[in-house]
Amino acid sequence: MEELTLQVAPKYVKRYQSGFPLVQREMIVNWPKQIAEGQILRLVSPNKAFLGKAYYGKQNKGDGWVFSRKEDETLSTEFFRALLQEAVQNRQELFHDDTTTAFRLFNGEGDGLGGLTIDYYDGFLLLQWYSAGIYSYQKALLRAMFDQPFVKGIYEKKRFLREENTHDFVGGDVPEFPLLVKENGMTYATYLNDGWMTGIFLDQRNVRRRIMEEFASQKNVLNTFSYTGAFSVAALYGGALNTTSVDVAKRSVTKTSEQLVVNGFNPEEQSILVWDVFEYMKFAKRKNMLFDLVIADPPSFARTKKITFSVAKDYGTLMEELISITAPNGTIIASTNYANFSLKKFKEIISAAFKESKRTFKIRETHTLPSDFKVHPEFPEGNYLKVLILELDI
Ligand code: SAH
Repeated sequence: MEELTLQVAPKYVKRYQSGFPLVQREMIVNWPKQIAEGQILRLVSPNKAFLGKAYYGKQNKGDGWVFSRKEDETLSTEFFRALLQEAVQNRQELFHDDTTTAFRLFNGEGDGLGGLTIDYYDGFLLLQWYSAGIYSYQKALLRAMFDQPFVKGIYEKKRFLREENTHDFVGGDVPEFPLLVKENGMTYATYLNDGWMTGIFLDQRNVRRRIMEEFASQKNVLNTFSYTGAFSVAALYGGALNTTSVDVAKRSVTKTSEQLVVNGFNPEEQSILVWDVFEYMKFAKRKNMLFDLVIADPPSFARTKKITFSVAKDYGTLMEELISITAPNGTIIASTNYANFSLKKFKEIISAAFKESKRTFKIRETHTLPSDFKVHPEFPEGNYLKVLILELDI
């Protein structure tokens, strides 16, 4: 394929020189009317100095990613092989950790190529493609991937399609589902062939570990937006007295029961409720219920039959409600994966909610992405996760 030379607008030249990885059409002077997904781009400065090699791939973040600052680099199997080698090298500690068998192996631009992530589930890989552009290199990447000695089988999600995949399997062996993976000694049931989500969000590994180690012992735990109850599992390992998991999706009952069972906990002894979290909080308040540990990890945006929730406008209200059902000296774990919020802004919203509630708190811990979710130094927006562990004074 012939390369397309694109000229970067003067005020963005410095950013690309210092390694900025994202291509955005507003940064380009001669953006063409038509451009094919996967098109290789040569970025140059106004005086035609070479800045970087990129590919075109339309996704929500922008229009493509820089993949090299070498002029003769292409998206070949050799290129992918070198990238993967480095990604594997950087995660040796996780590969050698017998208590953890699921983690992110390749994190897009953080590992040198935006638009693609690869997760490792006990030898089975899940590739996630974020544009048709990067997907056009699927075959070259797969050749490099299947060369890796640890690969048992490969699944993929085409995140650039609106519809969930129906054919997630790519090649190699097929595991038995649920595929049981380990994380810090806990077990999680996962599915690589069942819609966008696998049963566990790997980016919360450190938070689950801290819940197990430190924050759940002898506590009544409320896990809101609980999905498959992964945080509830961690709380039970940590010695929680009881857990209540609340999620509006019906699937959460079977999914959460399964996570409990594979860890030897009895689902009959825990509460797993299909409720709108906001309805549940009203109910809990009416019944004067108080929890010692309250966990909230809502989606950035959600619509149920009754309400529309968006982190951007509703997190403050959510916090106020959560505070009202948290026991004196209790703990709240407030999480969001909303990328357009800075940590600073997130803290401000939380502080305002406490002020409104006339309660005070200390931040015990702050978590962002774990190290396997590698962040590009020139693209800090890639570090979307923010988790605050708050201890209430009264
Ligand atoms: N905290 C979970 C992940 C949450 S994913 C974990 O660690 O695994 C977001 C979940 O929120 C989804 O399962 C979705 O069904 C649920 N959800 C969205 N809006 C909701 C609402 N208003 N009430 C209850 N659950 C909701």
